[in-house]
Amino acid sequence: MRRPILAANWKMHKTAAEALDFAYAFAPRVDGATHADVVVAPPFTALDRIGRVFAGHGIALAAQNVSPEAEGAFTGEVSARMLVDLGCRYAIVGHSERRTLFGETDALVARKAAALLAAGIRPIVCVGETLEQREAGRTFEVLSAQVEGSLAQVPRERAEDLVLAYEPVWAIGTGRTATPAIAQEAHAFLRTRLVARFAGSAERIRIQYGGSVKPENVYDLMAQADIDGALVGGASLDPVAFARIVRFEAEKGASR
Ligand code: PEP
Repeated sequence: MRRPILAANWKMHKTAAEALDFAYAFAPRVDGATHADVVVAPPFTALDRIGRVFAGHGIALAAQNVSPEAEGAFTGEVSARMLVDLGCRYAIVGHSERRTLFGETDALVARKAAALLAAGIRPIVCVGETLEQREAGRTFEVLSAQVEGSLAQVPRERAEDLVLAYEPVWAIGTGRTATPAIAQEAHAFLRTRLVARFAGSAERIRIQYGGSVKPENVYDLMAQADIDGALVGGASLDPVAFARIVRFEAEKGASR
């Protein structure tokens, strides 16, 4: 049985003061939610401030990016050790926005994941096909290559620290969610790739779905056998909506 993991990806939204307002509104709403890991990834600038609030509520802090380098003359970069210092337990790597807007390759994502694991932070590694790739029938081929490349430096004994996020690019920020059946098909395929790479540990690796998740669709997605969590962009900016997503069991029937 894999423990559900619901994570917020705020992207480049909220000042530190706005993030603090969110933290005060959100934390009491998920107090006592022991069924799942709850993770929030604000911009770097808000990590310290909201981390202090979340610490008392069992909410884990995550970064949205990390440098593959440990230290040195890398202007503008933030190392894994700096994230540990601020209390980060997770970090997102390989998000499609970083792949497409900032030219990040699987090889770079692999180095970032390795840097995180070495520092004791769990990487949330994102993979997903574009609409063009899906329509060309290349979804599995693309996912396979991303998993191979992005997880190339994850040692088998650390596989369980990994979280994989399936984020079909056509569903991110578009309001167009993959149906539970489409998402499950991709997750089941990803599980076979994880088994090929990590053997027995693969059954314990959590695979999140990301792409226009909201309170109305989270229950049906989470009901799928290989969907172990959600990575949420837009809906996670609202403390009430994200708290409903965290308590996804209570949303049963919301889409009907
Ligand atoms: C994301 O960016 O990780 C994401 C899933 O965004 P949204 O929920 O807004 O589609």
